[in-house]
Amino acid sequence: MQFLGGVREIGGNKILIEDGPDRILFDFGPSFSPRYEQYFVEFLKPRSTSPVQDLLEFDLLPRISGLYGKEVLAGADLPWVPPEIHGLFVSHAHADHAGYLGLVDPAIPVYVGAGTKDLLETIQRSSPTIRYGEHAWRSVPDRQPVRVGNLEVVPFPVDHSVPFAYGYLVRTSAGTLVYTGDFRHHGPRAPATRAFLAAAAQEEPIGLIIEGTRAGPDPRRDLSEEGVRTGVDRILEHHRDLALACTYPRDLDRLRTLAGAAGAAGRSLVVSTRTAALLAAIGAKYPELALPAVGATGGALVYARKKRRFYTWEEPFLAGALSAEEVRERGREYLLALDLLHFPELIDLRPPQGSPFIHSMSEPFSEDDVDDKVLHNWLDHFGLGFHQMHASGHASGAELGTIVRELAPRTVYPVHTEHPEAFASFGANVTEPELGVRYPLARGPRAG
Ligand SMILES: [Zn+2]
Repeated sequence: MQFLGGVREIGGNKILIEDGPDRILFDFGPSFSPRYEQYFVEFLKPRSTSPVQDLLEFDLLPRISGLYGKEVLAGADLPWVPPEIHGLFVSHAHADHAGYLGLVDPAIPVYVGAGTKDLLETIQRSSPTIRYGEHAWRSVPDRQPVRVGNLEVVPFPVDHSVPFAYGYLVRTSAGTLVYTGDFRHHGPRAPATRAFLAAAAQEEPIGLIIEGTRAGPDPRRDLSEEGVRTGVDRILEHHRDLALACTYPRDLDRLRTLAGAAGAAGRSLVVSTRTAALLAAIGAKYPELALPAVGATGGALVYARKKRRFYTWEEPFLAGALSAEEVRERGREYLLALDLLHFPELIDLRPPQGSPFIHSMSEPFSEDDVDDKVLHNWLDHFGLGFHQMHASGHASGAELGTIVRELAPRTVYPVHTEHPEAFASFGANVTEPELGVRYPLARGPRAG
């Protein structure tokens, strides 16, 4: 077993499990860690003609053979060989877990939750720079084992801030490993997470590879999804003008929560064409998610930004779309979802002083976060009221401790965290993974 990413960083998980001749990989996304940002920033990206070469230059990708596609290896000092990885399991559709799929050899089967492929496709269609590539896609069956050679992988749906997220049990020749992916149990799919953890405990795992986003010091406020709803209800009750909110683009639960709160206050949620495209595509195919209907009052109406040209994928959403003037004139009828990226719209929208801006995303990690400063400068300029209302996609530090004790694995491997050392206090045998080091599948005595 090797950790090729997600080591002392939040995101970028790349976990290789080897058992005899069988080799499978869990997640494959970029690290948005300081290490990456030393070399690449928004305006300075790896070249699309030689992405692997450019990322290997700074050790930002694992140097393993039989993983990358022939084309993306152009220029790299790593020769193409036929696939030596027999399956890539993606836990969920967030960029830091799936964002490097486009680099993976198209012949390697990619296993994802039903719906994740639809999410990725929709995202790709509406984002010219995102390319996940062609793959032999396999949609994983809920709680049914998938065989890869002698390995047995059992996918379990879990609750996270994007739907179709999975945790995995991996039955190896040495015993069962548990990989949590990203998860929480304070959102709408909390029972799924509990079922996964109960099944994991039953297996008496030899290893628990667990995300630790919120392990260690975490001063950020956090609510449950229901708590967000109550908070937004209260804000909308007290304001009679245009209300604004920003969310993560793939947090469909949050969009449903905001649309529900808007509806209860006699408003409609208003979203960008990109969000509308996502809601329409996923809502039509997965009615169980009960996503707000696009174009319907009480559902999600569409906001048409001033643009010189619209893309083909936007066209279905433009008929009946609201202009800045319409939203400004009838502000009390709307809750407008507005990304930081589109803040110049505020110049046309001119919300009355004191109008609420609901920040429905996590608080910044650091105090000198540039985006956060810019956001507050704009809010101050327009005199908008800031309201923090967020339910994290991740289990809290205390919850992580409970899980570690309940699963009682022989070894805990914290990933996707800046504080692996925080797991030591949970009374388990913790191995803080080192990048690229090989670990035997079973280590240490069984915990009591
Ligand atoms: Zn995630």
